[in-house]
Amino acid sequence: MAQWKSTALLQKVRSMIASPDFFTFVFPPQCISCENQLFEKDLLAAAQHEDAISRRLLVAQDWCGQCLDQLRVPLEERCPTCGAIVSVHPSYQGHCRLCYTMKHHFSQAVCINNYAGLMQELVVRMKGRKDECLAMQLGTLLGHEMQRLELIDRIDVMTPVPTHWLKRFRKGFQAPELICESASKIVGIPHVASLLKSVRLTEKQGLLSDLQRLNNVKGAFAFNAFFAEKIQGKTVALVDDVMTSGATANQCAKALKQAGAANVVVAVVARGAKAQ
Ligand SMILES: [Zn+2]
Ligand SMILES: [Zn+2]
Repeated sequence: MAQWKSTALLQKVRSMIASPDFFTFVFPPQCISCENQLFEKDLLAAAQHEDAISRRLLVAQDWCGQCLDQLRVPLEERCPTCGAIVSVHPSYQGHCRLCYTMKHHFSQAVCINNYAGLMQELVVRMKGRKDECLAMQLGTLLGHEMQRLELIDRIDVMTPVPTHWLKRFRKGFQAPELICESASKIVGIPHVASLLKSVRLTEKQGLLSDLQRLNNVKGAFAFNAFFAEKIQGKTVALVDDVMTSGATANQCAKALKQAGAANVVVAVVARGAKAQ
């Protein structure tokens, strides 16, 4: 009798531990950004959010409403070419100043937000802590942004901006690859991690002037001939964490187009806002 009782108790404890409620009790959901705990009331507020994508993201309990609302901005407030969140000037034909005066090798760029405020904090944290989970979550947000901007109908394949093998070896963390993989799952478009390769070590772009950035990445990327058939006449989405002057994206887009891609679009988590 005593043995039966202990077996029944054991089974009860086992089923309790296996239940999702127990898991939530021991590891309550947290916002990936502010790391605040998320409660029942947050879930109720999430279900009432006016934007359908935000509603879905909040119900998944990866973000709190406050952080998500800071990151996701209205569609109208961006340059249609480079994706910068700026109020476009009528004298620049509906574009930002930079795109009015500069020619890009890509036709369009999208971002979640400018590289400022909370977005900047998150990108710095992702790189500093080599936070794979945060990279994947930002990739998910980027995938939703690509959907919202109706970019995905025109894309055939996605690929990240490549990292030189020596940097890969030193860092052991590839944010663009993780972001690309995660965004590709959301939009349902295949991704190939090595369409491009970095053939020369470059300086950190963030420390250079615009002209130096341009020279720093000139000829630094090459197309991987093994995938030649995959991109003939296709539209490729190039994915990166941050785009500032656009020099890196331009060189990568140039290499893809020279290899036969019909069009290149750029999808980045954050856009360095120099476009005003
Ligand atoms: Zn938060
Ligand atoms: Zn622009």
